[in-house]
Amino acid sequence: MKTGQINVQTENIFPIIKRFLYSDHEIFLRELVSNAVDACQKLKVLSSTGEYKGELGELRVDVKLDKEAKTITIADNGIGMTADEIDKYINQIAFSGAEEFVSQYKGKEGAENIIGHFGLGFYSAFMVAEKVQIRTLSRNEGAQAVQWESNGSPEFTITEIEKSTRGTEIILYVAEDALEFLEKARLQEILTKYCKFLPIPIFFGNKTEYIDSPEGEKDDNGNIKRVAVEVPNQINNTNPAWTKAPLDLTEEDYKAFYRELYPMSFEEPLFHIHLNVDYPFNLTGILYFPKINERVEVQRNKINLYSNQVFITDSVEQIVPEFLTLLHGVIDSPDIPLNVSRSYLQSDSNVKKISAHITKKVADKLAEMFKKDRSDFEAKWNDLKVFVEYGSLTDDKFAEKAKTFTLLKSIEGKFYTTEEYLEKVKPLQTDKDNKLVLLYTNDEESQFGYVKAAKDRGYDILLIDGPLAPHWISKFEQDNQDVMLTRVDADSIDNLIKKSEEIPSKLSKEEEDTVKTVFESVVNKDKFNIEIKSMQSSDAPIIITQPEFIRRMMEQQKLGGNAFFGAFPETYKVMVNANHPKIEALAKETDNASKSEKAKQLTDLALLSQGLLKGEALDQFIERSISLV
Ligand code: ADP
Ligand code: MG
Repeated sequence: MKTGQINVQTENIFPIIKRFLYSDHEIFLRELVSNAVDACQKLKVLSSTGEYKGELGELRVDVKLDKEAKTITIADNGIGMTADEIDKYINQIAFSGAEEFVSQYKGKEGAENIIGHFGLGFYSAFMVAEKVQIRTLSRNEGAQAVQWESNGSPEFTITEIEKSTRGTEIILYVAEDALEFLEKARLQEILTKYCKFLPIPIFFGNKTEYIDSPEGEKDDNGNIKRVAVEVPNQINNTNPAWTKAPLDLTEEDYKAFYRELYPMSFEEPLFHIHLNVDYPFNLTGILYFPKINERVEVQRNKINLYSNQVFITDSVEQIVPEFLTLLHGVIDSPDIPLNVSRSYLQSDSNVKKISAHITKKVADKLAEMFKKDRSDFEAKWNDLKVFVEYGSLTDDKFAEKAKTFTLLKSIEGKFYTTEEYLEKVKPLQTDKDNKLVLLYTNDEESQFGYVKAAKDRGYDILLIDGPLAPHWISKFEQDNQDVMLTRVDADSIDNLIKKSEEIPSKLSKEEEDTVKTVFESVVNKDKFNIEIKSMQSSDAPIIITQPEFIRRMMEQQKLGGNAFFGAFPETYKVMVNANHPKIEALAKETDNASKSEKAKQLTDLALLSQGLLKGEALDQFIERSISLV
């Protein structure tokens, strides 16, 4: 037996490790299992180069739990270590990393993210264990098995032991404050989280499976009995879909992998993108496009980040642009500096390149789908829309590419690219100042009257709705300088798209003034601005609109965007159609009481059609209507 001191200047480093890495204790298992997997992979390599001449056997990792002894064991049949190797890799190299970590990050926030980067891997065992043993037999012929042991002080012992099987066992004597890790369910959970796709089979105890009775026993109904059998509980799929070539995968394989990733999800993804890059950085992965619904937030944070098949994190905000966090799936890259702080990630040039690359791939895929099968793309548009809009609003590069496949949808359900649409409506919807006016509705039903008026003029109407519509509209107008988007109910139809000829008024100046005064006396003047307009006699007698600008301000306010204006007053424009027969008659009416009543009735009808007549006013309207019958 030999005792020694781990090569370390800092006194007692372990309590510090423990405290610093407080929030992430569970990753000890990830570190130890991935070391075991590495040991197996290394042996495979040595075997393939002929340096290792023995039998490989079935390479595997076993995680064992002994609640009574309070131990967790991670065993592998990989390369193992000689006493010299332990000295070199565990006592010296691994520890120098831990020490560096402590001296640099003492007391700093986010220190827990740094594990691994400094090679703290093996020593993370001391986050949960008061004593750790390494029992190992090297692959070398005639090697002597050895045991390393440390109780969390810089002292260790190395002893020669009996061990007949190749490989390493790490035995953790779990500390009193980490007893949660002696629960089978907890270990199962951690293993599933971090090790689900590691490339060497990992076993953890047994699990119960139900199979047809091997003896052919039958139940009372004559069916073959199902019996419970204990089978080894393998944690991982060693060959996850993203590590395979796209050509070897069918559509069904991709869907099956989606279910493997999200066993709790009932939705099928719309389509996927298989990423495969090896220059200038390594990146593989599969991104799935989910149906994006109202509950956007719930759907976020579903991209899992892996490094060589080891799960790292599911919060990838700094690695991919924000809008891409709406996607699901897996990204695997050994080139992302995984264990550094968030602020470091943001400025890392590799990360920037990776993020730009993923954005480009996603845009290319959408462009390709649009080109290949436009009607299929159109059918998916409702589900894609929010994503494409979000991307266009937040990422300039994406916005540029998205121009070719961003679709406008007319209320008839026809789809157009911007270019196609502008071309189509140009002849009829250009106003006298040569501005092209695009009309839209966000709710055909409640804006029915306005939609109908626009249709009667032969105009085309877009359906623009969804949570991002207000932002998207501003962006569209910025990108298309001579185009204006106006909601159908923002003004009377002839004002929305002003053509040259003015319609003459049938009322005299005095008559217009009287009509105006009458209407002003029946509405709340702060909220409703009365205007006398000469419109077509076939247009409605009263049209209530909310100017595009005011409505947009109100919407901004609702989105919490524009606090600058304070509480923006809700105002409407009430246009009285001077050429409508009822208004003409009203102007000539001499009985003042009857005049007011009619004005009130007409105004209420217009309000009613807008859903603006409520409460007491609505009640009075009904009373009045009844008495008129
Ligand atoms: P890293 O894995 O980043 O090299 P670790 O601290 O996790 O750092 O491990 C230090 C070293 O200890 C490894 O590089 C390896 O040489 C050795 N080692 C750890 N676990 C095993 C194991 N199960 N079998 C063989 N060697 C191991
Ligand atoms: Mg390691």
